[in-house]
Amino acid sequence: MQSPLPGILSNLQNAAQAAGRPVPTLLAVSKTQPTAAIAALAAEGQRAFGENYVQEALAKIEALQGLGLEWHLIGHLQSNKAEPVARHFQWVQSVDRPKLVAALARHRPADLPPLNVLIQVNIDDESSKHGCQPAQIDALAAAIAAEPTLQLRGLMAIPAPWPDPARRHAAFARMHALQQALHGRYPQADTLSMGMSSDYAEAVADGATLVRIGTALFGARVHPA
Ligand SMILES: *Cc1c(COP(=O)(O)O)cnc(C)c1O
Repeated sequence: MQSPLPGILSNLQNAAQAAGRPVPTLLAVSKTQPTAAIAALAAEGQRAFGENYVQEALAKIEALQGLGLEWHLIGHLQSNKAEPVARHFQWVQSVDRPKLVAALARHRPADLPPLNVLIQVNIDDESSKHGCQPAQIDALAAAIAAEPTLQLRGLMAIPAPWPDPARRHAAFARMHALQQALHGRYPQADTLSMGMSSDYAEAVADGATLVRIGTALFGARVHPA
């Protein structure tokens, strides 16, 4: 079977060019996928991988160490699991409360570069989703920026899967405005993580700088996640 990676990269390039925006980073979301599938994509040049579950991710990170991959935690994180995450990941995209900021900062080894952190925003105010409210971004950003072992890099969102494209666009546009405001105060907060397999081209048009793509790259997940 032909790899979907070149097609997705070219879709990203085209969407960015059409919108007059920089080409976004592709995060390959590898939750539930076997190590061999990650290694195959890495052999094609893919560097950044996203995982949701800490135990599953740690096993893969260990098995693939030496490939120079960049690991992003994109799933909900309990503070009591912050230590291995702070040691073994380069990014955490799901930071949404002060207690987690403190736990990650405390456990990030001082001899490693700062852990890159995104604030997850519950942009459609869904009770089923994690993430902070937009009004909580400023306080969380200040808490992250005050920690020398953390680097505030921007915002992440998982908008509701609206069937109506206008509602999808509205959620992406609200995120873009929030990220632009944050970037104005924190120049290092240059990242807006939004867009998945079904809507990444729209997300790029609306300002995403990083898209998180799972099924379109790997096929269906091995078990429902
Ligand atoms: C699973 C997941 C994705 C990827 O979703 P696909 O629809 O398979 O592309 C992206 N972001 C988060 C937070 C996820 O949990």
